[in-house]
Amino acid sequence: MKITKIETFVLKVALGKERFYSSQCAFPERNSLLVRVHTDDGICGWGEGGQYGPAEPVAACIEHVLARHLLGEDPRDPVMLWERMYCGTRDFGQKGTYIEAISAVDIALWDIAGKAAGMPVSRMLGGAFRDKVAAYATGCYYRGEDYLDFRKQLPKLADEAASYARDGFKMLKVKVGLLDVREDIERIKTIREAIGEDTRLFIDCNHSYNAATAVDFARRVEQYDIGFLEEPVVPEDHDGYRRVRSRTSIPIAGGECEYTRYGFRDLLLDGCVDIAQPDICASGGFSEWIKIHALASALGVWVIPHVWGSGVALAAALHALAATPPFPHTHNPIP
Ligand code: CA
Repeated sequence: MKITKIETFVLKVALGKERFYSSQCAFPERNSLLVRVHTDDGICGWGEGGQYGPAEPVAACIEHVLARHLLGEDPRDPVMLWERMYCGTRDFGQKGTYIEAISAVDIALWDIAGKAAGMPVSRMLGGAFRDKVAAYATGCYYRGEDYLDFRKQLPKLADEAASYARDGFKMLKVKVGLLDVREDIERIKTIREAIGEDTRLFIDCNHSYNAATAVDFARRVEQYDIGFLEEPVVPEDHDGYRRVRSRTSIPIAGGECEYTRYGFRDLLLDGCVDIAQPDICASGGFSEWIKIHALASALGVWVIPHVWGSGVALAAALHALAATPPFPHTHNPIP
């Protein structure tokens, strides 16, 4: 089997009045970069690369840089081709767009390998431990024309948070970090009161704090039973991660802005996180997921894939999750 053609698709939908904000940026649109890899025997594989950043540079990287490493090769050798793509771009592409592009291609190659073998990717990865996973809702962004008006936001936050609980979600992840930290604490209090005690609550800071502020915030919201605190500080600040992690009882999550086994090696060995969150569409695809998960599991770190993309990204994450052993380890049946 040989790769004959590689197509990229930039999907883009403007959000108009529905635009929303995290602590780092507005989301005026949703976009995804999809790739379709064709073969000479008619099997096609789909992949997705990148997260919320612009899709065009990822497409350009696939078309102008990676394609020449792939055309004519057997797509059923995804790990070998990953190394070839990475070695061909290592000098200028160890993180960011180049790895997102490699991720997209890698996912498509595993898709082809699975289709050629007549097996789901979860089985190619070693076998499924489960056929369903619990989903958490992500919401409570900063929304609407008055998104900077803290007092007007609080009742809307309460309504939104309660709606997820009503819809049946047992877990909710919410945003902080755009406004003053004292207002963030009020947000969490409001949300916890709205969802009651039975819904798990996670907080995503989108790396909006410095370490001192993150510690102060974390200690003040510990009373609201927080499942994890995500990206409290910028991804480069491993010392800040350690400081936060050592000074709060809330587990620390991070890794959606990290890339490859090399980036996760440093994040994990530096003791930054209790929960690693590689994005399969950004950190290196399935081939790199295997290695990142192996590193994390050996170090006692839980791995939950980050997802921000189309149905292709979601499907990739579900296959990876299916093939992830229970953590902590148990040989009991998974509920
Ligand atoms: Ca996040």
